[in-house]
Amino acid sequence: MTTLADWRTGLPWPERETHKHARGRLGVVSGKATQTGAARLAARAGLRIGAGLVRILCPPDAALVIAPAIEAVMLTPFSSPEGLVEGCEGMDAVVIGPAAGLTEATQANVRALAMTGAALVVDADGLMVFEDWTEGLFEALDRDDVLTPHEGEFERLFPDLLGAGRETAAAEAAARAGAVVVLKGPETVIAAPDGRVAVNDNGTPWLATAGSGDVLAGMIGGLVAQRMDSFDAARAAAWMHAEATRGIGPGLIAEDLPDRLPAVLAALH
Ligand code: AMP
Ligand code: MG
Repeated sequence: MTTLADWRTGLPWPERETHKHARGRLGVVSGKATQTGAARLAARAGLRIGAGLVRILCPPDAALVIAPAIEAVMLTPFSSPEGLVEGCEGMDAVVIGPAAGLTEATQANVRALAMTGAALVVDADGLMVFEDWTEGLFEALDRDDVLTPHEGEFERLFPDLLGAGRETAAAEAAARAGAVVVLKGPETVIAAPDGRVAVNDNGTPWLATAGSGDVLAGMIGGLVAQRMDSFDAARAAAWMHAEATRGIGPGLIAEDLPDRLPAVLAALH
């Protein structure tokens, strides 16, 4: 089980002399104009969890949709994998995959970012476009990268593993990928390539709602951008994501979660 004591001391708190660039810069890659909500949820979660600056990288036609819907982010349009890599320069971590689209462009974008060595949180569609490049992806990933599959996504990425049980499966997946693996569900297993494994079980079924995973990806990215150890960032985010539902059950929607993080964080300080 993951407990507060395991990661609380690793939570990033700003020094008096800090500035927004020093507090962690997070990039979030958006899908096309009709699929920008996931990136906005992740970006808002990244800001709420303390990243000093969040930049949404988006296809050009998505910029005018995103701009009026979220204020405190920078927007950088891109139209090629090279443009995306350029737009991510200076970012301490990048979230890619939520509503990215199951397309060759998404594969090219994840591939290009993975090759740069940027700290990545790869979620959702970003995980699903690798049937013909899984080995290449795993080679390009580093120990500070995080993969966040739910069980269905995990099974497609690692079809042979779930039979061994979720903890063993996640541990083996992390070893294979050379990255932190977050196997999401009612009990979320977090595994690092060095063998560390934690289970987070404070979730509630109200988290089973559209966009919930996008918020979690943004939270992990926001903590990694603040240079928290990626395994600790993932288990801290999983715990806080669930804790954000405290006092609200029926009617919870993903939009509620980021704005409840200040209270969750304040209680940890
Ligand atoms: P996704 O499937 O990508 O939207 O992610 C869903 C998020 O909600 C993950 O963080 C899951 O761990 C969490 N979640 C989904 N269903 C449950 C459940 N029944 N109980 C607790 N947490 C859940
Ligand atoms: Mg998801």
